[in-house]
Amino acid sequence: MTLAIDQGRRALLRGRRSAPTPPLRPPWSLEESLFTQHCTRCGDCIDVCETAILVKGDGGFPTVDFARGECTFCQGCLSHCETGALNAAITPPWNIKAGINAQCLTQQQVVCRSCADLCETRAIRFDPLAGGVASPRIEADQCTGCGACVSVCPSHAINLSNPEHPTDPDQGAPHHARTR
Ligand code: SF4
Ligand code: SF4
Ligand code: SF4
Repeated sequence: MTLAIDQGRRALLRGRRSAPTPPLRPPWSLEESLFTQHCTRCGDCIDVCETAILVKGDGGFPTVDFARGECTFCQGCLSHCETGALNAAITPPWNIKAGINAQCLTQQQVVCRSCADLCETRAIRFDPLAGGVASPRIEADQCTGCGACVSVCPSHAINLSNPEHPTDPDQGAPHHARTR
């Protein structure tokens, strides 16, 4: 009986883990299934994005690539989308938060604060650590999900995800984010 329950739980966990993570859409996007219903893949949001972080993803739908830069929340994409796939009533523009994984240089006792230097909202904190190298942590409440910290990280340790769709832990999960 115990074995059956354990196998059932394992199957459940496997099922959860393999659930697909929705692609990261532009800010102010409708929920994924509605987004793909409304978006005509016209590419207007991609063309006007002032930091060029919007790119064509699978099926021609726009996705965000933070390796190219950050979102300034300029609303260019929002104001040029004529289909309602991006909707000004959605606030905040997205719910993604930064997370820092074990590739962070501080985990190898290398001093680095590149991410914190770029974070305008001061969401990245370093707690003093006696006798060691302090590691960054994210204050989730202060993270806007702008992505500015992603491309400056020399060890590619930062990613952004929706806490409701966390990265697979086996793929280097973000250390999310203590909330106060
Ligand atoms: S708000 Fe501006 S910077 Fe951000 S994705 Fe839209 S167009 Fe690009
Ligand atoms: S402007 Fe709107 S409809 Fe056009 S690709 Fe962007 S989200 Fe889709
Ligand atoms: S995504 Fe933006 S606000 Fe959040 S930690 Fe990175 S730089 Fe700071």
